[in-house]
Parts: sequence; C-alpha cells; structure tokens
Amino acid sequence: MCGVFGYVGQPTQVVPLVANALRIMEYRGYDSWGIGWDIGSEVSLLKQTGRVPAELQADQVASIAIGHTRWATHGGVTDANAHPHIDTDGRIAVVHNGVIENAEQLKIDYLIHVSFRSETDSEIVPHLIRYHMEHGQSFTESVRTTFLMLEGSSAILAMDCVSNMMVAVTARSPLRLGRRTDGWELASDPLACARSSHEIAVIPDHHLVVLTQSSAQLVDVYAGSEISISWEPTPEELSSSRGDFPHFTIKEIHDQVEVVRDLEDKFNDVGPLAEAIGHHKHIILTGCGSAYYAANLGATWLQDACDAWIDVVPASEVSEHTRNLGTDTLVIALTQSGETADVVDAMQHAIRWGANTATIINTETSTIANMAETVVGIKAGVERSVLATKSFMAMALRIYQTAAWLRGERSVDFSRLANDLDAVLRSEAISRIAYEIARHPSMIVLGKDAGRAVAQEAALKIKEGSYLHAEAFITGELKHGPLALVQSGLPCLVIATSSEELRAARIAAAEVKSRGGYVIGVGEFEQRDCSEVIAVESTTSLASLVHLAAMQKLAYHVAIARGVDPDFPRNLAKSVTVR
Ligand code: GLU
Repeated sequence: MCGVFGYVGQPTQVVPLVANALRIMEYRGYDSWGIGWDIGSEVSLLKQTGRVPAELQADQVASIAIGHTRWATHGGVTDANAHPHIDTDGRIAVVHNGVIENAEQLKIDYLIHVSFRSETDSEIVPHLIRYHMEHGQSFTESVRTTFLMLEGSSAILAMDCVSNMMVAVTARSPLRLGRRTDGWELASDPLACARSSHEIAVIPDHHLVVLTQSSAQLVDVYAGSEISISWEPTPEELSSSRGDFPHFTIKEIHDQVEVVRDLEDKFNDVGPLAEAIGHHKHIILTGCGSAYYAANLGATWLQDACDAWIDVVPASEVSEHTRNLGTDTLVIALTQSGETADVVDAMQHAIRWGANTATIINTETSTIANMAETVVGIKAGVERSVLATKSFMAMALRIYQTAAWLRGERSVDFSRLANDLDAVLRSEAISRIAYEIARHPSMIVLGKDAGRAVAQEAALKIKEGSYLHAEAFITGELKHGPLALVQSGLPCLVIATSSEELRAARIAAAEVKSRGGYVIGVGEFEQRDCSEVIAVESTTSLASLVHLAAMQKLAYHVAIARGVDPDFPRNLAKSVTVR
C-alpha cells in the first residue's frame, strides 16, 4: 500500500509541497510519514510515526525531494522504519510502495557488509543502487538493474543528490507523472497532483521515468528504448473536500443521494455488460471487503434476471481451483480503486483460464480497468474515507441496472430510492442507538437473502470504524450455534429488507430478546418485536440499499461515540495494493 511522491523542478520550499501531497495520499497508509530533500551532495530527512503534522517548518529550499506515507508490511511502526531510506553515506534516497519478497536473500548475496538502519524490506533498494554505482553503472542504470533483481510488487522512487536526478519505476503498483509549470511530480495517486499539475500520465509497469530539472523521459526497462509519454489533462473531478462535514465518511454517506440520482441517467452504460452476461453460462462476481459484499447483494438481483450460474467469490480465494468453464465464464471484478492486488490476481487467473473479463469500477484509469474487456464505471466520484460507502451503493446499483437490462427494461427510476435515502439519513434514532451500542465490546448482526449482504456490510463497517467486534450471521443460522453468544444486553441488529425476510427476522428477534439480548430491528418491525426499531420501509425492490445507508450511518456514529476517526481506522488503508 502506501503513497509515494517525488518532486523535481525549480528550487522551492519542498517540505510543504511534499507534505501537502502526502496528506492527500494518507488514506493509503498512515503508520508513518517521511520527506527527504537534497541539501548539496546528500539528503536531509524528516520522518516519524503517525499522521503528517498540520504544521511543519517550511523554509527548506531544494530542487528535488521525495515523500512517503507508510502502511507497514515489513518491520514495526517506528521512526527508523519510516521511509525514505538512504544508502550508507546519504547520497541516494528511496521511497518504496510494495513488498520485496526476496529482500533477505539479496541482503545475503550482495549487502552482507552493510549495516542496516531499519527492519524494512525497502532499505535494500538504496544500498543495491549504490552497490551497482560502485561497480561502474550510472545512477539510472543502477536503478534499472536493482529493479530487475526484485521479486514482488514495487513502485520505487530514487533520488541521487549528486546528479540531481530522480528515477522511478513500477511493477504492479500505481504511479502517475504530473507536469507542473515549474517541474515534474510523481505520485501513487493522481489526486496528489490534481492541484499542481496541468497534465498527468500513467506510468506503465516496467518503465523507468528519468527526471532532471529540464527533462522527463520514459524508458522501457527491458528494451532500453525511449517511449513517448501519453499526457492527459488533469481530470477536474479529482478534487474532493469534506465541505461542512466533520469527516469524509459521513460526507460520502450523504453523497449517496446525489450518486443515485446521477446513475439513473447513465443506464445505457450497463448495456455492454448485460450483453456480455447474456453470452455466458457462468458468471463469477469477485471483489474484496465491501466490494465483495456489494457483489453478494448484486447477485440476488442478477440471479433472477439471467439463466447463467452465478458464483460470488472473494478475490483472494480465486485460484486455479476455482470453478470455471473457460470461455463460457465471465469474471466481473468489483473494485473502487482498480488497483487492489488480490483483484488484479483474480483477473489474471481469469485470463489464464481463457474466461472473459469485465469490471464495475470507480477509477476508470487504473490497472483493472485496463485489464478488463468490458468496463462499467460506477461514477461515485472520489471516495476518500477508508470506509467504503458510496462505492458500495454505486456498485450495487450498476448490478441492479444490469439485471434490469437483462429483463428487457431500458430505464430504471431511482427517484424513490434517492428520497428514501435522504429520509433515512435524517433519522435521529440511529445516532441515539449508536451511542448505546458503542458501550459494548461485541455485537451480532443478522440478515437473510439481500439482508444477509447488508448484515455483512454493516458488521464490516462497525468493525472497521470503531474496532467493536461485530459478526454477521445468516438469520436462519442463529439457532444452529451463534445463539450461544447471546447474553444479557448483547446488541443484536436484525435486518429485514423485504416482507419475506421479515418473517424469519421476527422469529430470530424474539429468540434473542427472550435471552436478554438488546435487539435492534432494522426494517418494518413492530416495536414489540424488538428493544429498538430503526424503521425502514421494505416495499421497493431497492429497499435493501436504504437499510444499507441506515447501517452506514449507524456505524459512523458508533465510531464517533467510541472516539475513533472513521476516515483513518488503525491498521487499514484505502487501496490495498499488496497481497
Ligand atoms: N514494504 C515496505 C515497508 O514495510 C513498504 C510498505 C508500503 O507499501 O507502505 O516499509
């Protein structure tokens, strides 16, 4: 995971420049941060654990600098393990995104005499670059040779304080080059360049970017040949702000009303996906985390709309053993970032099987968008909170529209859904109940059919946002084991998104309540069924998404009640680009 950033250009106050970019990319990892800049023939470093401070000394002027926000994979969360890492005499500095699988072996083979300052896999990179320079290679050549020795996935930015050059390269980690009026910048996320660069280019895998103050070159790592850079204007919608909301999480929950309204007009986008589904006997929906649960919800609509056999498989479980029919299988990847390593791997398995591929995706200029034959954008706009909310809503709606297309419909009215969402997000009962739940260390969430996917997503949101152990179970499974967890006061959310689900949900609610549980019914429950009711109408086929929004709002308020910043939950990052 992590965010890398680099600047090469006119001398400027580099610390605030890099720090601003790091703050934008903090969602990618916030274990530690670090900035390195040239002070002559060596690098000066500022790095420490935690979030990038709001105030930093700003007067350091340099023409070349790098920065990093870390999501630790190798080595604890310490100042020493924070990037940048440097070679022995501080001439070369490196920031790294990814995992170097053969780091220990490379240490033994090449760097046995080096005393390492950190426990990271990344620190071998500056030492290896220096090793190759000492064996006669140029800085650029040394970065190339080092990169070719690494196993795993890596985006690397290396700066040399003597030649004043920066060289970057990537394998399966996102990297963008931005053209500024005063130089160049490199970043894991185009958002970090959105305000400062007027043009942006995607750096393809296995290509070196060689930057000096006056030039930017793209070079094929294997052929050594220069490739022209495909510049594109910086997309306008890249900017995002919290507005008057205290957190991105709650802002993005409220954004959903607009997302739903916008998607209604984009119905025709799903045509190619629906046609593709119509030509296959077997559909695999795949994704990770919330995207996986959105796939579970979407499958409940799709299975009624087509004859294909539908499997929903978490991306990390897609392997050579996964059931597939080769060319008769269509793999549809659901992803917000388009860079999730497990989803990239799943797509690669699909391609190896000879299956066809599609994606329902937010970032339409991304690795997975490039891999898929059919691409449906979810048009949710930038999602900044680590807790996925509007991307879930938009993914589910894209599947709903696809199911409608397969039934022969050519439009779907979302106005009722938008109004219902607006109404449920005003509910004051939800925040009051959240404060009650927040006092407990654990809870259970029950759901059936569509309500099961909502229950799974609700439990995930509560775990991520507030560290409260929330476990989702299928309503009918309660009495086959989970009921043993129920004791006096245990919070239990019972979700019923339709009248069919309500019947089973009321029985489960009664079973939990009679054992002293604190039962919160979500749906059209009678007050006497439960200890509390979050009233949500269950009369439309999209009612499950209104229940979902109620659960997102509940999870947000549980997080606030427990003093957690839901935009940056511990140990997590938004875009999981490592395995
Ligand atoms: N593997 C490196 C580390 O643990 C980089 C992790 C990242 O991508 O943030 O420092």
